[in-house]
Amino acid sequence: MIQCKKCSTTNKDSDKFCQNCDAVLGDELKNEKIYKKEDVVVIKEKKDGFATASVVLGILSIFLWEFSIIPILAIIFGIIGIKKTLKNEKIGLSSAITGLILGILFLIVRIYNLYN
Ligand SMILES: [Zn+2]
Repeated sequence: MIQCKKCSTTNKDSDKFCQNCDAVLGDELKNEKIYKKEDVVVIKEKKDGFATASVVLGILSIFLWEFSIIPILAIIFGIIGIKKTLKNEKIGLSSAITGLILGILFLIVRIYNLYN
């Protein structure tokens, strides 16, 4: 089956023109499909900066939780990273979640340490 790139109607492989809008089907369309596929791969390979920053700050929180700003930043970047990876289909959702969890965990450690 060939999908028309102009109107998205699905046509038979043997069709040379779109049944709906008479647009040319075939090689031109195939190239477009390959381009789109590569484009998606490129987008998915890009790792979100906030997600990376979040997991780095999350790991730093393990050692530097006494500096409250580090787990707080891990949480903020984690939330931004999760939103951005879900919206833009970028890699880094697991990093953002890891950073967020570590941030929350060591912020609790920090708060517990302050009041005990
Ligand atoms: Zn068409």
